[in-house]
Amino acid sequence: MIDFLNKGELKELYSMQDIYTTSPVTNIYTQSQLNDIENLVDGQLVKYEYASTKEEAEEKFEMKISDTTIVICVYKQYTGTLNPKVLIKKLHQRIKKSGNRVQYNQKVTDLKKEDGIYKITNSDTKTGINKTILSKKIVAAAGPYNGTLVKDIAPYFSSLIIPKRLFLSFLKIDSGKYDELTLEEKNRIRESYPVAYLNSEIFYSMIEKFDSDQRPLLKVGGHFLRTEIKDLDEVWEMQLTEQEIQWSKENTADYLAKLNLPIKSSDLEFANGYSCVYSLTESEIPYVSHALKNGTDIDSIFLLVGGMSGIGAKGSLAYGLIAADLLIGNRNESFMYQKAKSALGSERLIKDIQSIDK
Ligand SMILES: Cc1cc2nc3c(=O)[nH]c(=O)nc-3n(C[C@H](O)[C@H](O)[C@H](O)COP(=O)(O)OP(=O)(O)OC[C@H]3O[C@@H](n4cnc5c(N)ncnc54)[C@H](O)[C@@H]3O)c2cc1C
Repeated sequence: MIDFLNKGELKELYSMQDIYTTSPVTNIYTQSQLNDIENLVDGQLVKYEYASTKEEAEEKFEMKISDTTIVICVYKQYTGTLNPKVLIKKLHQRIKKSGNRVQYNQKVTDLKKEDGIYKITNSDTKTGINKTILSKKIVAAAGPYNGTLVKDIAPYFSSLIIPKRLFLSFLKIDSGKYDELTLEEKNRIRESYPVAYLNSEIFYSMIEKFDSDQRPLLKVGGHFLRTEIKDLDEVWEMQLTEQEIQWSKENTADYLAKLNLPIKSSDLEFANGYSCVYSLTESEIPYVSHALKNGTDIDSIFLLVGGMSGIGAKGSLAYGLIAADLLIGNRNESFMYQKAKSALGSERLIKDIQSIDK
C-alpha cells in the first residue's frame, strides 16, 4: 500500500513508520504456560529476550517478578503499536488513487438480492436522503453490525457472529508522583510498553500518547473482560463501572510494581474511558467467506469479513487481501495463505451453520 501511494510522487510522502511504531513488546506469562511458551520460542527467528527466573528478569529487564512468572520481550521491526486512524486514512487514499470512491456518512439500511444482483439502499446520515445502488459483487464488513446488515440474505451470520462489550480505560500517573521519578525510571516506563499479561483476563496496555507535561496516557483493557450487549446502538455511550476502573488501576499498578517503580494504584488517575465492541465467533477465528445459498451452495458474488475479536486491526490487511482475491478470483498457492484461507472460509462456515442450535 505504501509503495503504491508513493508511486508517481517526486519524493516519498508515505512510510510504514506513519502507521507502525516499532518498540519492544513485553509478554508476561506464568510457569503453568511453560509448554505453550516452549512451543512459541522453538525455532523462533524473531529476536526476543526471555527471563524465566527472578534473577534473569532483574538482570535483563530490571523487573521484579515472582518465581512463577516468565517474561518474554519481542523485538521486531513494525512490532509495537499500530495507529488505526492513520491506517484507515491511508487505505482511503489508496482506494481513491486507484480511481475508486469512498462515500462518507452513508449508512446501508437495506441489502437485498434481486435477479442475481445486489440492491443496496444507502441513507445519508446528515440529510436522510436514500439512494439505491445496484452491484454485481459485494463485501460486507460492518463489524458488530454484520448480523443486522445481512439479515435478509445471510441470516445465519447473526447467530455465528456475536458482539460483546469491552471497556477501555485511560489512566495517568499523579503528576507529583511522576515528577519524583528519575529520568531512568521514566525511560523504563517508556520502554516497557506495550505489554500483554497472558493471564485469564489478558491485561493489555500501551502508551496512547504523552500529554503536554510529558506524562504518559496509559490505555488499559482486559481482552476477556466481555459483557453482554442489550442495545448495540446505545452500548457505546455506557459509562465504565467502578469495578472496571478499579481493575484497570490495580492491574496497571501491579505491572508498574513489576517494573520496580514506586507507583501505587492510588497514584493512578482515571482520565476517561470508553465502551467498545468486539465481534466474536465461537472459535474466535474470523470469517472471510462467501455467503451460502440454500445452506451449502456458494454465493460467489457475496463475501463477508467479520468476527475478528480483539485482533482484527493487525489482521485486517491480510483479511482484506483474501477477500479481494476471492472476489476477483486471484490464486495464491502459498502454504500459509491456503491454510489461513481455509481456516476463515466457506467450508468452515458450512460446518458452523450446521451446528447452529445443536
Ligand atoms: C477495546 C478494543 C481493543 C482492541 N485492541 C486491538 C489490538 O490491540 N489489536 C488488534 O489487532 N485489534 C484490536 N481490536 C480489534 C479491532 O478493533 C477489531 O477486530 C476490528 O476493528 C474489526 O474490524 P471490522 O472491519 O470487522 O469492524 P469495524 O472496525 O467495527 O468496522 C466496521 C465499520 O462498518 C461500519 N458500518 C457498520 N454498519 C454499517 C452500515 N449499516 N452501513 C455502513 N457502514 C456500516 C462501521 O461504522 C465501521 O466503520 C480491539 C478492539 C477493541 C474493542
